[in-house]
Amino acid sequence: MDIKVPDIGDFTDVPVVSVLVSVGDTVAAEDPLIEIESDKATMEVPSPAAGTVKEIKVSEGDKVSEGAVIMVFEGADAGDDAKPADSPEKAEQPQGAGSSPAPESVAATGTASGKGDLHAEVVVLGSGPGGYTAAFRAADLGKKVILIEKYPSLGGVCLNVGCIPSKALLHVAKVITEAEEMGAHGISFSKPKINLDDLRGFKDSVVGQLTGGLKGLSKARKVEVVQGYGRFTGPNMIEVTGDDGVKNVSFDQCIIAAGSEPVNLPFIPQDDDRVIDSTGALELKDIPKRMLVLGGGIIGLEMACVYDALGTKITVVELMDQIIPGADKDIVKPLHKRIEGRYEKIMLKTKVTDVKAQKNGLKVTFEDAKGEESAGIFDKVLVAVGRKPNGKLIDADKAGVAVDERGFIAVDGQQRTGVPHIFAIGDVVGQPMLAHKAVHEGKVAAEVCAGQNRHFDARLIPSVAYTDPEVAWAGVTETEAKAKGIKYEKGVFPWAASGKALSNGRSEGMTKLLFDPEDDRIIGGLIVGTNAGDLIAEVALAIEMGADAVDLGHTIHPHPTLSETVNFAAEMFEGTITDLMPPKKK
Ligand code: FAD
Repeated sequence: MDIKVPDIGDFTDVPVVSVLVSVGDTVAAEDPLIEIESDKATMEVPSPAAGTVKEIKVSEGDKVSEGAVIMVFEGADAGDDAKPADSPEKAEQPQGAGSSPAPESVAATGTASGKGDLHAEVVVLGSGPGGYTAAFRAADLGKKVILIEKYPSLGGVCLNVGCIPSKALLHVAKVITEAEEMGAHGISFSKPKINLDDLRGFKDSVVGQLTGGLKGLSKARKVEVVQGYGRFTGPNMIEVTGDDGVKNVSFDQCIIAAGSEPVNLPFIPQDDDRVIDSTGALELKDIPKRMLVLGGGIIGLEMACVYDALGTKITVVELMDQIIPGADKDIVKPLHKRIEGRYEKIMLKTKVTDVKAQKNGLKVTFEDAKGEESAGIFDKVLVAVGRKPNGKLIDADKAGVAVDERGFIAVDGQQRTGVPHIFAIGDVVGQPMLAHKAVHEGKVAAEVCAGQNRHFDARLIPSVAYTDPEVAWAGVTETEAKAKGIKYEKGVFPWAASGKALSNGRSEGMTKLLFDPEDDRIIGGLIVGTNAGDLIAEVALAIEMGADAVDLGHTIHPHPTLSETVNFAAEMFEGTITDLMPPKKK
């Protein structure tokens, strides 16, 4: 079978920038074969069929147009077009679980054999950002959808006890600290009076507006919401136990979006309300005098930021040698420096070995890297040591869906589990546990359910800590490049030379971009500073679009803005910067 360049719009004579397969390779339908680059975009040409590559008729630098034969396949099966490109067996398994033997009655076509009390073409289990997105998209594509959620409020962790309430409180924290710091610029405000009931009310109203909006959107799309706890009872059936009894919901296809919950530490008292997790912290029951934040990751540090602004003395304890393990050390440094000045203590390379409930507080014992012990008494301990997936809590085995020992469900590039008509998305399928990843996966799963040949093919998933300053990264980090032997060069722009950062009184930031030395394309970016979370979107887009340093340097950025720091970091790499001395060429 001759493999030809498909319709690529108005482009002709487009250079081939890379050939992604070799003679003898077995490819699946939709696997990328070559990469071509017009003056507007880089595109991967997908395989129209499964087969074995017999001959490759193009090489890098050749120019191709629609209809040009690029390869010849042996044993090609164009009928595979409708199948997933990655079978569950060969797919990238994010968390290592394979598929467990499916019960015999599994209908590979996804047609339910027996009908339940309610029936839907697509059932979505869990209404977090992954679940409601999948449900709404599937409904928009014409599917009859049922959305199962154990809580009365839709939106999952993110809207109810995660992203949104934390950001509402972080906004308040920012106003408090900014007002405080204005003193250094000659503007003094009196100490804020905090009315916790009103503050909680503000946070709850933001949450309520969004979750109420979801209810309206479900209704408008005719997505039926069934409230109750769902468990699989078979490959095409979920039993939902709610306030009004038990309902059996049958389905042709199902999308599992059951999310995750905070990890508990067994040696910490579980029934003491002075021990809280992020959900407890967001409840804002009181403002403790001294709080230990156990875990220096994103969630712990965001909560620390809120309580610090409200007046709590914060101690952070982290097992690793830096806060926000995962981001580059130099990027985290300005945050560390700032909170070191504000918080009581930041303890790195230290573990908590014991927490004892006493009348006067929680007595916490620490052990540092040298094995030396110390102790402290805190009014509250916030446990923020990570989240665990909910895969083990839904009787997935009854549907033949494999769940690994940690609770993750493995999926292929189309979000399919080992059972062809059951998909999984969001926190329950793996790291990073982030809402925007869940949303993207939700759309992929819904579109595949509706018969589209979609894949999760995003090049990156950005991460942001909405601390003060914010820390954000996208694509390859320097730490990762070093660990994996990825060649890179970098452009770094210190915000001390940014007019906007200086005007904001917040010049501690830094923008660092990593480039592929072969072709100067951007492969990663890390930003620390105020609004880094918003700024990283440009870096993400640049990586997705295959932009190089000149593209970033020649894009006119508005002045004076923090967005210029991305432009300047690219110019630092290029050596064309004028606002600073360009770095010496190696
Ligand atoms: P979830 O949001 O966990 O939703 C799962 C839903 O399924 C829940 O509503 C649950 O009740 C329901 N469910 C589970 N099992 C069943 C069952 N058996 N029957 C019925 N219903 C069930 N991410 C970001 O991207 N940005 C942020 O700023 C951010 N901030 C965060 C702050 C905090 C404090 C926390 C805790 C998390 C934060 N996250 C953030 C992470 C984000 O909330 C999650 O990645 C996201 O919610 C995952 O979405 P999901 O759809 O996979 O699952």
